[in-house]
Amino acid sequence: MNVSQDTQLVHSVIDAITRAIGAKPSVLHEPCFQGNEWLYLKECLDSTFVSSVGKFVDRFESDLAKYTGAAHAVAVVNGTAALHVALTVIDVGKGDEVLVPAATFIATANAVSYCGATPHFYDCLPNNLGADFSKLRDYLLRNTRQSLGQCININTNKKIKAIIPMHVFGHPVEMDELLNLCKEFNIDLVEDAAESLGSFYRGRHTGTFGKIGVLSFNGNKIITTGGGGALLTNDSSLAKRLKHITTTAKISHPWNYYHDEIGYNYRLPNLNAALGCAQLEGVNRLVNKKRELYSVYKKTFEGIDGISLISEPRECKSNYWLQGVVIDERFEHLRDTLLKSSNEAGIGVRPLWTLMHQLEIYANCPRMDLTNAESMVKRVINIPSSPTLLMGS
Ligand SMILES: *Cc1c(COP(=O)(O)O)cnc(C)c1O
Repeated sequence: MNVSQDTQLVHSVIDAITRAIGAKPSVLHEPCFQGNEWLYLKECLDSTFVSSVGKFVDRFESDLAKYTGAAHAVAVVNGTAALHVALTVIDVGKGDEVLVPAATFIATANAVSYCGATPHFYDCLPNNLGADFSKLRDYLLRNTRQSLGQCININTNKKIKAIIPMHVFGHPVEMDELLNLCKEFNIDLVEDAAESLGSFYRGRHTGTFGKIGVLSFNGNKIITTGGGGALLTNDSSLAKRLKHITTTAKISHPWNYYHDEIGYNYRLPNLNAALGCAQLEGVNRLVNKKRELYSVYKKTFEGIDGISLISEPRECKSNYWLQGVVIDERFEHLRDTLLKSSNEAGIGVRPLWTLMHQLEIYANCPRMDLTNAESMVKRVINIPSSPTLLMGS
């Protein structure tokens, strides 16, 4: 360890951030309301339709479908609820396993648990947070067998029912490889596209490849409805099921209350959807600002030895939701110093999530070798990523 080299590196990173975004304090991410938000919210209040019925929630769904190219969109209260019902309607249940990345936000794994199933963790690429599907394929070849068109984990004798990829920080995973893997092993695909609204893989929007895709509109996401989420699907019978089960499974009738299964009260309120409609009108501008912010950081970080920025994969257009910095292994001891110094300087910098298998609640779940994720978690930080950073005030 060379102390002066270490000090120099920490200084260079803070300097690069400051040169990119200015010296004023900055949070990791803040939303941007510069369109029709006030207008639509007022219209929504004036209409008195603030709850689960109203024109904004219908419009938001159709706007989302149009923007993503999905045949159907169903708006719900948040991304976690969306993941939960997505797995529910494809019949993930007790005794099943679902493949989940080790490096993800907790919601991905929790949704599996809500269904009574077990998350089964897979690794990311070396030096990259995207999934390593060729490593996963080798693992599945050695650890599963096919039985009656189902993929069985030979160590637990449980069915591996589905896989959830996650497009980390908005960067699409290698979807062609994943689609092949799903076909080869008979595994259903549910995409966690919570971070990747506005991200495309070979021209196709993330979240539209699997049986169902999930979006989130939490306050820190690329667009926000306060809290909110959506389900995308190209399958019209699944879309109907999703709408039904997220609206208490009530049979539509002018006055009677009849529910034909145990449904969920997960419908997005019209008030939140009003915000969503305005936000979605401006999504391309927000994505462009984030892509521009990446270019600015790219310049100010240039030449810093031992540091690289996470950039979009080939053949993809990423929304660059959060800007990610990767520290070389030889400097990984500097992560905590970087977090501390930056935050003390008023710069909102954050580490990666704790890996799922390193949480006590998921420590006993099945998993493959997770060396790459275990290395990345020590070396990745997120730096200020708000679109407003390049919008003057
Ligand atoms: C934000 C997020 C979700 C869901 O978020 P909600 O806060 O429930 O809307 C799910 N998965 C990932 C990877 C996320 O980043």
